[in-house]
Amino acid sequence: MVPTHILCHYGEIGTKGKNRRQFERKLKDNMKAGLKAACPGSYVEIRTVRGRIVIELTEIGRESLDCMKEVLRNTFGLVYFAPATRMEQKKEILEEAALEFVNTLPGESFRITTRRSDPNIPLSTQKMNEEIGAAVVEKFGKTVDLTQPDVNCHIDLVEDSAFVYAHRIDGFGGLPVGMGGKVLSMISGGIDSPVATWQMMKRGAFINYLHFHSVPYTSDASIKKVHDIIRIFQKHQLRTTLFLAELAPIQEEVIEKCHEKYRIILYRRFMFRIAEALAKREGAHAVITGESLGQVASQTIENMETIEAVTSMPILRPLVGMDKQEIVNRSKEIGTYDISILPDEDCCAYFLPKQPATKATVEQLQKAEENLDVEALVEGALDSLHKKVIES
Ligand code: ATP
Ligand code: MG
Repeated sequence: MVPTHILCHYGEIGTKGKNRRQFERKLKDNMKAGLKAACPGSYVEIRTVRGRIVIELTEIGRESLDCMKEVLRNTFGLVYFAPATRMEQKKEILEEAALEFVNTLPGESFRITTRRSDPNIPLSTQKMNEEIGAAVVEKFGKTVDLTQPDVNCHIDLVEDSAFVYAHRIDGFGGLPVGMGGKVLSMISGGIDSPVATWQMMKRGAFINYLHFHSVPYTSDASIKKVHDIIRIFQKHQLRTTLFLAELAPIQEEVIEKCHEKYRIILYRRFMFRIAEALAKREGAHAVITGESLGQVASQTIENMETIEAVTSMPILRPLVGMDKQEIVNRSKEIGTYDISILPDEDCCAYFLPKQPATKATVEQLQKAEENLDVEALVEGALDSLHKKVIES
């Protein structure tokens, strides 16, 4: 049976009360933008019908289903979707379709799962399941299995139509990108910050990126990695902005004027100051990092406190309670791992101290910074930011 539509379901959004309309509109806009960019001409219309979003396919869409599936799978907010065939809402027609489905798909057991979008629809779902099920048993001798059927023939009764399908495709769930406001992601090209970014994007945040590099003291490998990671995330958010910041002038000052054991924490405090200033300038409400409690010396709870003390903006650390292995697994799932493990030269690894402080206090750091013109260094970094708009 050739699919004529794709039925899309979006769990959590449905519960959002007054915001629901806005959520649905955002999700629909994101679906349209993704489909227009990757599979142009694939749909006639996309509309919300009683808690579902229904895509009507064009001829092109019917032939480019794989492309459409890929786009929908990566549109955050969709819990699952199913290519389906629209039919008249008549029992005889649906029975015939179900017979064909169960007969053509492999397997010995089946079930019929009828649902209706509202109680005014005259057909009884219970009766449909029983009577169509009985017809299948009689005609093909297959067995009914309600828990783990080989073929699950879904019949969704929506308004005055019926949609028939056998396969659901899972989406990631989450919320539509853009619903959660603008956020600035501090992205390093390592394993953690891309995963942190993905988590927040899945929760609807609209992401712009900030990457610090130490060129010419290091190569530009990390910059290239960040570009490649952003390209992967364009599946979820088509357009973004990347800011590249020079850390080297700050590092030169810190190396010359401060005790080496505070180097990393000082670099980090500068990174956070610059990130916050940029976030404010760009209308973002928070900064994301890939920190995870205790993973390295700069990520003890004491050092997080000392580093965060220079900002007043929310710092989002979606990985703070995750183990490294969990983060690695997730990065493989989302497709960033292979890029993240490519060799680069981390800007903070440049002149690394032998014994970094693990429990530095705010007072110690303030004292160390007395030797620096903090404001001028931050201003200098902001002035030399390199901005790149990235679109599909
Ligand atoms: P990651 O795997 O994300 O590189 P990490 O385990 O190397 O993290 P750190 O080097 O302590 O840990 O960095 C902690 C966080 O600080 C990173 O997750 C990232 O959000 C931010 N960060 C580190 N280096 C950079 C950088 N060069 N540019 C922007 N943000 C950075
Ligand atoms: Mg790193």
